[in-house]
Amino acid sequence: MEAVHFYLEQIQKKKQLNAFITVYSDEAIQKARMLDEQRAAGNRPGKLHGVVIGLKDVISYKDHPVTAASHILQSYVAPYNATVVDRLLQEEAIIIGHLNCDEFAMGSTNENSFYGKVLNPIDETRVPGGSSGGSAAAVAANLCMVSLGTDTGGSVRQPANFCGITGFKPTYGRISRHGVIAYASSFDQVGVFGKELGDIALTTEVIAGPDEFDSTTELEPVPQFAREISVSASNWKIGYLQQAFEHKSLDNSMRKEYARFINELKKQGLHVEPVELEYLDLIVPTYYILTTAEASSNLSRYDGIRYGYRAPGDQDLQANYRQTRSSGFGVEVKRRILLGTFVLSSGYNDAYFQKAQAVRKKLIKKTQLIFSEFDAVILPVSPSPAFKSGVKIDDPVSMYLADIYTVYANLAGLPAISLPLFTLGGLPYGLQIMTNRFCELSLFQLSHLLMQQFKSFDNS
Ligand code: GLN
Repeated sequence: MEAVHFYLEQIQKKKQLNAFITVYSDEAIQKARMLDEQRAAGNRPGKLHGVVIGLKDVISYKDHPVTAASHILQSYVAPYNATVVDRLLQEEAIIIGHLNCDEFAMGSTNENSFYGKVLNPIDETRVPGGSSGGSAAAVAANLCMVSLGTDTGGSVRQPANFCGITGFKPTYGRISRHGVIAYASSFDQVGVFGKELGDIALTTEVIAGPDEFDSTTELEPVPQFAREISVSASNWKIGYLQQAFEHKSLDNSMRKEYARFINELKKQGLHVEPVELEYLDLIVPTYYILTTAEASSNLSRYDGIRYGYRAPGDQDLQANYRQTRSSGFGVEVKRRILLGTFVLSSGYNDAYFQKAQAVRKKLIKKTQLIFSEFDAVILPVSPSPAFKSGVKIDDPVSMYLADIYTVYANLAGLPAISLPLFTLGGLPYGLQIMTNRFCELSLFQLSHLLMQQFKSFDNS
């Protein structure tokens, strides 16, 4: 109960961050009271008993609004729970509200929301990252303990990196997407934000695992991540992605700090070697071709007839579709629907879509080779720390290019994490670690080890 009151008070105090779209204050208080009573009556508490959690506004919570931060879904109410929400509630979590994000999870700064931009709690003149910017800002500013986001091309890891917290994206197929509003279905995964790795591990363990409502989830058993996190394996073989650390887009001070860090790892006796990824410059175009293609298909369902907003007037059906979609979607979403329709159109399909599929295949093959040799791969999360609001919003290409380090994990379906290990001029930035598919346990264990050894690395 105290926890709920504390977070509600913080939410009130830090309203200017604009992290939440809707807060469920009364419900959260009621739920906390009920949980307290059950506990007092001697009931065995659930794994997430009383943990206060925020949901990105693309995750369905029965009888609550969910809008993907889009005008087109205004006043839409979820008719059922996403599987992840069912599982959180079963373990007695308290859902405190829906968090702001980029419209349909498209963006890197949270400036594409119908509900306005989110501010970075560390420096309010800067972006919190995106698309799950509200989820990252809320945890960083103590507005909830844990939050869920989605990661299609970095939307959990990059905002975590900008807000100085930890952000985790699972293997594709580890967590059900049932009830999660789709952006690009072969990339989307639900991810978790927290300040403590243990909280992320526990939440993941609760929401992960096969689901009959999502045929892309796999049968792979889910380890007890939280319990086994501190088991320290030895003989880690870590590859650092050479082209990534050498890439011209990376801030030079960050480059130096990463080099110092890699040396430090070696000094501490870890086995660290360079690993090559010759396709690095191809992955951003590949990602944007494939995700916009998938988005153009996924978003065709918003026609003003079945869901949410409909343009006023009694024009004919075609005109109504056109007006609803023209005024219901924001600029970035329209840009991507157009781009996706273009790359799929006959005559261009071979030149773009098929080529991008081929690159993705090659990348997956290469990834298998890498993980036959290494247990984990490290790389940056973003080329720079959080930048000022407004500086990139009119330059989509430069915005897209900044996704260079995060989209690889999504193209290959790998689990990945962003750990807040460094700072530059008072701004946090992280280290990204990836492991092989379904090797989340070792990802958490290595993260735990590094967080313990290097938490104060930037002060050393
Ligand atoms: N920044 C990326 C994009 O705009 C990532 C989005 C995401 O992961 N949802 O597509």
